[in-house]
Amino acid sequence: MALVVQKYGGTSVGTADRIKNVAKRIIKTYEAGNDVIVVVSAMSGETNKLVALANEMSEIPDGREYDVVVATGEQVTIGLLAMHLKSLGYKAKSYQGWQVPIITDSVASKARIESIDDKNIRADLKDGAIVIVAGFQGIDAAGNVTTLGRGGSDTSAVAIAAALTADVCEIYTDVDGVYTTDPNICKEARKVEKISYDEMLELASLGAKVLQIRSVEFAKKYNVDVHVRSSLNENTGTMVTREDKEMEGILVSGVAYDKNEAKIAVMGVPDKPGIAAKILTPLSDAAISVDMIVQNVSQAGMTDFTFTVTKADLKQALLITNEVAKATQAKEVLSDENISKVSIVGLGMRSHAGVATQMFVALAANGINIQMISTSEIKISVVVDEKYTELAVRVLHDTFGLKD
Ligand code: ADP
Ligand code: ASP
Ligand code: MG
Repeated sequence: MALVVQKYGGTSVGTADRIKNVAKRIIKTYEAGNDVIVVVSAMSGETNKLVALANEMSEIPDGREYDVVVATGEQVTIGLLAMHLKSLGYKAKSYQGWQVPIITDSVASKARIESIDDKNIRADLKDGAIVIVAGFQGIDAAGNVTTLGRGGSDTSAVAIAAALTADVCEIYTDVDGVYTTDPNICKEARKVEKISYDEMLELASLGAKVLQIRSVEFAKKYNVDVHVRSSLNENTGTMVTREDKEMEGILVSGVAYDKNEAKIAVMGVPDKPGIAAKILTPLSDAAISVDMIVQNVSQAGMTDFTFTVTKADLKQALLITNEVAKATQAKEVLSDENISKVSIVGLGMRSHAGVATQMFVALAANGINIQMISTSEIKISVVVDEKYTELAVRVLHDTFGLKD
């Protein structure tokens, strides 16, 4: 007998029939003698609808109330699933985040899980119940409902698996596992059997939304093997696990893209010490993460300072940056939402030179202009015009031999 955590994403619970289908899989696991904790997302499209509604109410929705609204999608699916299991004669119990409770910090719309109280869940498991937990949500110390950022149900599942030292953590989704790139935009993408935490961390942070980045952070920290697989078939998926020798031999293991970022450029800033801190500190104070940063070589004491934020943060970031620009007597602030970040990731890059050149040559040969570049030990990212995203992904997938 094992303790199994299964997470079902939006598409997997997207209709009443799909929920019933998921119930069959849960029952099979339960009937095999396992304790089962299920984490579910909202039905596909629901969270988008809730976000759109929130944005209709206010240009920059209040964080606390935003979370109150967007957390509701998951409340529907836990109830429906538990209801169906009960109608089939199984003990089942649904939990919202606060009922577990899953304690988070207070950063609205991107809260981090701080702790999970396992007492209630354990009691229910002992009682023979199938426990069903709403993904994506928790409660802060002051009692506010919080949400964990888009895609956060993955994190709920892995954090629960870590907190209860589950034997198995399965993430059920609408593709067969983790691929060399998004199989929905590159038909030559290939499923990988296993991938290291570090590579998956990079891929997730660079836009491969198959797992939310924080779920991989939890998995790495607590050594949880995560099995990503399809809810629509029985195929073995991909194990996200500790690094081994074999993995190091692969130069590039995946290509990721992210259309979710926007570029802000502060033009004509007086180039004095402390300028980067002046521009970026108010953003971090507002819990806005800045991703890529480029500062141009200064000319006549002036420089341009460019960075990217998520599209969701753009409006607020622009308000803040315009204030700073005024205070620092910068000429103007420009922004561009039509950008995309395309990245290659691989452990083998640590020990190989020339990968970046190969990447830039391939993009240039296809007429794709690079606007920004950033690198780490195991990844290279470039910002390009959004219209070239798919082309860039396919070109790089080809260049680094990721096809079968
Ligand atoms: P869920 O609703 O189950 O959480 P998501 O839509 O969040 O599912 O994540 C699954 C999607 O991730 C896939 O449909 C696919 O389009 C996308 N994806 C992006 N990159 C990859 C990749 N490297 N491997 C697999 N899927 C990927
Ligand atoms: N429903 C949330 C979202 O769409 C969380 C998730 O699906 O993981 O972002
Ligand atoms: Mg997801």
